[in-house]
Amino acid sequence: MTQKARQLTAEVISIGDEMTSGARLDTNAQWLSRRLGELGIAVTFHSTVGDTLAHNVDIFQLACNRADILVSTGGLGPTRDDLTREALATLVDQPLEMDPSAMEHIEQMFSRRKRDMPARNRVQAMFPRGSKQIFNPQGTAPGIDMIIPRADATQARIFALPGVPAEMKGMFDESVASRILETKGTGTEIKQHVMKFFGTGESDMENRLGSMIARDREPRVGITVSTATISLRITATGANQDDCQSQIDETRREIMERVPQFYFGEGDRYEQHDAINEVLIARDQSLMVVEYGPAAPLGDWFAKLGDTPAFKGGLSLANPMQLQTMFGGNTEQETLKLLQAKCELDWILVVDHYPQLDHEAHLPQPASEISLLVISPEGDCLIRKETLGGHPDVLQPRIAKAAMAWLRQVLADRV
Ligand code: ATP
Ligand code: MG
Repeated sequence: MTQKARQLTAEVISIGDEMTSGARLDTNAQWLSRRLGELGIAVTFHSTVGDTLAHNVDIFQLACNRADILVSTGGLGPTRDDLTREALATLVDQPLEMDPSAMEHIEQMFSRRKRDMPARNRVQAMFPRGSKQIFNPQGTAPGIDMIIPRADATQARIFALPGVPAEMKGMFDESVASRILETKGTGTEIKQHVMKFFGTGESDMENRLGSMIARDREPRVGITVSTATISLRITATGANQDDCQSQIDETRREIMERVPQFYFGEGDRYEQHDAINEVLIARDQSLMVVEYGPAAPLGDWFAKLGDTPAFKGGLSLANPMQLQTMFGGNTEQETLKLLQAKCELDWILVVDHYPQLDHEAHLPQPASEISLLVISPEGDCLIRKETLGGHPDVLQPRIAKAAMAWLRQVLADRV
């Protein structure tokens, strides 16, 4: 464990008429708040302000007095309604000055795109005197990093980023995060690691992890859920990458002691179909998925694996009769075995069936019984019943994920 740092607070400021008018949903604030939380910073305020200079100066003034770190997005473009630069200069009563290195970067961005630089883009190389640049590799607008002294001799630090989500995310991860850690005094290196789980709910997971998910734990363990898949993101900060890594290793071990039964892999984008694919490739075996009803999420996910020898395709059919018409057989199981022989498959995973959803209702769908079926390479037919209900937006993927979780278990049992 590293030393415990002083708890800093942050305010996220979203700038733009498109947010205050409701034309666009502010997704930047959500993303930034998660990241700040992972760095151990408590986000105490979200503010949204339109493209009016006086209102921008007001909100920065207010925020400087109630939070240690301000992260704003938007208003750094070249047009007349982009006022963040001017608002910050007004805030500290300093002039805007041209930064030649920023000017050079902007000119390069245009020449690389083989376009002439409009004169008004020069304004993007202007910074309030005394501020620092935040490099923006993806776009023309650099960010602004500024320290604001407060009356009580403490200070606030502002990071002004562009509104374009991809640009602001890149800049936060590449530059802002380490500058915040420097402010916090815990060392400036940061490393993250994501572990993936399926098979229990968020609150059960929280109970099992107990103090491991406390906000002030170092390294921090953050929990997020996406259609029943749980991600645990470990964020370690330290003097160097090796230090961060050894903290991650230790925390990872502790997590594996507590919830090994739900674990299926590592990495933000790693899903259960990736895990199944790896197992099958290692065994030189293949799989086909058969899905009945108005959805076919498994076929869709496995198709995303691309050209893998482990996946021989997916069938999306209204009902088992259709399969019987195609392959013959007197019973469903006989039909599946004919399919297995004909397509030279090792495994078949069947979801019978996905319920029809009432999206208009916006209400949890009544639980219904779903039959899952696996045909093994030996021709055994395994059946499992799952009773699942839930919100229409997540019910079908949940059923598909439950099917994959069971198949993983069958694969693990039959080595
Ligand atoms: P640009 O150089 O592109 O003008 P900018 O800093 O001026 O950058 P904006 O003009 O405010 O940024 O926004 C650029 C784009 O990013 C717009 O499409 C805008 O809708 C989107 N955007 C801005 N703020 C947010 C936000 N908080 N959440 C989601 N999208 C946002
Ligand atoms: Mg703009």
